Amino acid sequence: MSLLAESPHKIELTGPETCPQRPFLPRDHAESVSGWGESWRTVGYVYRPTTADGIRDVLTLAREKGLQVAPRGGGNSYGDAATAREHLVLDLTRMNRILHWDPETGVIRVEPGVTIRQMWQQGIGDGWWPPVVSGTMLPTLGGAAAMNIHGKNHFRAGVLGDHILHFDLLLPATGEVVRCSRQENPDLFFAALGGFGVLGVFTEIRLRLRKVHSGLLHANQHVAGNLAEMFERFEALTAQSDYAVGWIDGFAKGEALGRGLVQTGQHLAPGEDPRPAQTLRVASQELPDTLLGFFPKSVVWRLMKPWMNDFGMRTLNALRYHKSRLIPAPAHTETHAGFQFMLDYIPHWKRAYGAHGLIQYQCQVPDTAAREVFREILALCQHRGLISYLIVFKRHRADNEYLMSYSVDGWSLALDFKVTTENRERLWSLAAEMDRIVLGSGGRFYFAKDSTLHPDRLQSFLGEERVQRFLALKRRVDPENLLQTDLYRRLFTGAADTTVEAPLPSPLEIPR
Ligand SMILES: Cc1cc2nc3c(=O)[nH]c(=O)nc-3n(C[C@H](O)[C@H](O)[C@H](O)COP(=O)(O)OP(=O)(O)OC[C@H]3O[C@@H](n4cnc5c(N)ncnc54)[C@H](O)[C@@H]3O)c2cc1C
Repeated sequence: MSLLAESPHKIELTGPETCPQRPFLPRDHAESVSGWGESWRTVGYVYRPTTADGIRDVLTLAREKGLQVAPRGGGNSYGDAATAREHLVLDLTRMNRILHWDPETGVIRVEPGVTIRQMWQQGIGDGWWPPVVSGTMLPTLGGAAAMNIHGKNHFRAGVLGDHILHFDLLLPATGEVVRCSRQENPDLFFAALGGFGVLGVFTEIRLRLRKVHSGLLHANQHVAGNLAEMFERFEALTAQSDYAVGWIDGFAKGEALGRGLVQTGQHLAPGEDPRPAQTLRVASQELPDTLLGFFPKSVVWRLMKPWMNDFGMRTLNALRYHKSRLIPAPAHTETHAGFQFMLDYIPHWKRAYGAHGLIQYQCQVPDTAAREVFREILALCQHRGLISYLIVFKRHRADNEYLMSYSVDGWSLALDFKVTTENRERLWSLAAEMDRIVLGSGGRFYFAKDSTLHPDRLQSFLGEERVQRFLALKRRVDPENLLQTDLYRRLFTGAADTTVEAPLPSPLEIPR
């Protein structure tokens, strides 16, 4: 009997005699585990160790029961990258100690469950800020390293891995912890960074933060009337900015296709901030928990919900664009946290997408082809009547030294799509068509955001030689294939097709 066939309260964790393929595991470890977008939900047996020995115990348990283990950090990957359907989930969020901090050099050594938030809070008072952050501060360093995340400064600062000095990796085969750096075990260093959690478990990470002389950034907003202008503005602005990110109105058509805004940020030079001790305080960086000083932000997602449809989002996107065009935002200063973590402003905003959640489709396309490819993708979405409610545009640089690199010298589009029972199949088929366009241009995909990629397209994206090298390394460090996530199973083993399955009928009844 599959765990999923029954309503969650009726889950029977039966013994081998009634369910040989699903041996007994303690019922209270069964939890609903989802991707961040909540379009993919499943049930896994969750274990939360606090030490390397605790991790080894989970691996031993998996071995004994013939199950697999998926490492999981903060669960901020949109799809199935940190879930393990009916297998063990190794939740590392309790390994969240800062092991060492050097305020002189900005070098920090952490356990894998330390979050980006903990890291900036540790560094800021001494004038250090993380070199690379995602649009949310909730990821753990282990999860961020496993995906080799990038920020709004990818074109300048590279990926997170570029700032990691070493990490310790617990290998599933032997349980030993090996130190990996550019000098020690470099093959593992460049494969586990971006290796989406299947080569080993990070138990410690050491990296260097970036010196800052103020808690503020110079921030600017620029309007782009169409896609061509978006590229032009962005290109000109990245030459003089430390950070840049674009927002595109997916509903704009014809001449206005690809219109949007570009936001840039630039560090203050030494001496520019008259009150650095004030702006570098953690309290000065914290995002406010009210809107306009009184309205609790925790309820805002409920107000957004009625607008999460084509009519509502078309209206809001047009309002945002025209307001910025007619009343240009003046150049101003903004806190680091305020500028970097825009997506944390409204807590739980993803819930506004409704019961079936959202997926994000992110592709990276080489500079030479990006203008044409993005035009084609935006037009295709409109033609199919499946329009992204939030589109983010960024500039990237190549990072080919990492075995599982997702980056090219080019640009990315990240499109958020609402998932419903009615549009699910059409959405997956749209994604397949976009894959074809992206691959035709030599583009790539990012596993942290992926929900839709089909294994057939993996080789064309990564190249057979790289896939084979990765799998050879996996056989060396994990010959029993103990570490497996649903994404790995979907793309590398062909054992699970999570792309087309509907979510669980009533996953919310499972204890979280
Ligand atoms: C609102 C939002 C905005 C985002 N913006 C960006 C962005 O700007 N740039 C960007 O690059 N990404 C972005 N992301 C994606 C996010 O940064 C990545 O998905 C990141 O990996 C999440 O970290 P996590 O701790 O939540 O890890 P999880 O999502 O839980 O896991 C991610 C991967 O790491 C593995 N893993 C976790 N811990 C360990 C460990 N200790 N050892 C080995 N493997 C491990 C898991 O198996 C999984 O494969 C965004 C996500 C959200 C929700």
